[in-house]
Amino acid sequence: MATVAFHTLGCKVNFYDTEAIWQLFKNEGYEQVDFEQTADVYVINTCTVTNTGDKKSRQMIRRAIRRNPEAIVAVTGCYAQTSPAEIMAIPGVDMVIGTQDRDKIIPIVKQFETDRQPINAVRNIMKTRQFEELDVPDFADRTRAFLKIQEGCNNFCTFCIIPWSRGLMRSREPQSVIAQAEQLVAAGYQEIVLTGIHTGGYGEDIEDYSLAKLLWDLDKVEGLKRIRISSIEASQITDEVIEVLKSSDKMCRHLHIPLQAGDDRVLARMRRKYTTAEFASKIERLHEIMPDVAITTDVIVGFPGETEEMFRNGVEFMERMKFSEMHVFPYSKRTGTPAARMEDQVDEEIKNTRVHELIDLSEKMQLAYAQQFVGQVLEVIPERAYKGAPDSGLYMGYSDNYVQLVFQGSEDMIGQVCRVKVTEAGVNESKGQLVRVLETAAVVNL
Ligand code: SF4
Repeated sequence: MATVAFHTLGCKVNFYDTEAIWQLFKNEGYEQVDFEQTADVYVINTCTVTNTGDKKSRQMIRRAIRRNPEAIVAVTGCYAQTSPAEIMAIPGVDMVIGTQDRDKIIPIVKQFETDRQPINAVRNIMKTRQFEELDVPDFADRTRAFLKIQEGCNNFCTFCIIPWSRGLMRSREPQSVIAQAEQLVAAGYQEIVLTGIHTGGYGEDIEDYSLAKLLWDLDKVEGLKRIRISSIEASQITDEVIEVLKSSDKMCRHLHIPLQAGDDRVLARMRRKYTTAEFASKIERLHEIMPDVAITTDVIVGFPGETEEMFRNGVEFMERMKFSEMHVFPYSKRTGTPAARMEDQVDEEIKNTRVHELIDLSEKMQLAYAQQFVGQVLEVIPERAYKGAPDSGLYMGYSDNYVQLVFQGSEDMIGQVCRVKVTEAGVNESKGQLVRVLETAAVVNL
């Protein structure tokens, strides 16, 4: 049996795309082996979000070639899309496919097997207006299923290369999203995470349809217990979206809303489409309709021109927003973006100090958020045995509002909704005690 091995760099969307590519190989009768093993085909799904992403991608390509010089080496993903020539120049690379036409990977592999000629299959992504349908009915991880609903982004934030590697906004057909959701539920998943490059932009390119309408349609999928949106911009939280969040009991009390900077001058230079006041008013509204909602965010520290005063202003704003977690990134120059050409780049050491300050702030906020739930019962879907002590009978999972809980359970609870009482709050994980498994209705004496 022919074998295929994958290595994925970068974000969740890339991991999703790899799953989709694996489905195509699987349907062809391939067996998947570890990337460290000898395989007939190696697929490297690359990332280009930072300059380091390019470098790491090249390293992994070389590693595959070294492992089996006879293997077919296929390079795909964002770096492949933006720099196909650079990749084709690496001796041993047999084919480059960008962020589209992945559905054609099998015929491309077959063509190579016949002709033995390197293939550059990268096409201009900026002209593509159609979402590429790729089926992912199953995942290696059994508890949470990802469902890609859109591709691309029209925003062109000044620090971001993504629109150039992924192209412009394309939404997946509503019927296809629903059909895939039904399939995932039939495969045993209770939670679906809607993902994309600019997930909250879903529907902007479809007439008479919207993200809110999609959420309502998903709400009707029988057997589905939880719907999570991987990320949504403050400006995309419309009144209609608020209405679904308020009325559908499947919508998780957790939203990831990228802030990126807490100062209006920095936001404007980033070309983000909101002010801090607009962002704050959306957050306030969410707290009104969804008490206890967890709001997580991304922040970039040390964007060109960020003075100490702007940074302080940002810190004060973030404290006010009471996020339940912040993902903090130091600004990293991405060649080809307007921000990389800005003159007033911030010193690395200053960036470092600021990053640490925000990580500390995030940890404080994480703890404060979890502490509110001590003594309360939350619904948790256990994902796996607790890594810290695999044989202890402890399991971990996330509540709908994204509190990570560790509690005494059993293997058969994985993937089932469990009611867990929070006994002790922690920064990254809190402790809990099982009350009941909802599916089997087994009651545990406390
Ligand atoms: S919204 Fe901005 S940061 Fe996000 S993908 Fe689009 S351009 Fe990049």
